[in-house]
Amino acid sequence: MTEAARYFWLPVADEKSGYGLTRHAFPGRRADADLAQPAHCGQTFALATPSEMDWICAPTCQDCNDTLKATRR
Ligand SMILES: [Zn+2]
Repeated sequence: MTEAARYFWLPVADEKSGYGLTRHAFPGRRADADLAQPAHCGQTFALATPSEMDWICAPTCQDCNDTLKATRR
């Protein structure tokens, strides 16, 4: 079972985040992803290539986190 192949985390532009970006979890693999994709929390985001600062500063989406935990059971 390779957990990493089933979803990926990516910081995306999110107006609800204080930083401007939130790290959401998306199904599938980053390499196969479209320009915009629905995250596990149900919202659709445009996927861009984040900077190193974005990875460090963007908070994790709690809804995505909870959804992944719930489906792992
Ligand atoms: Zn999310």
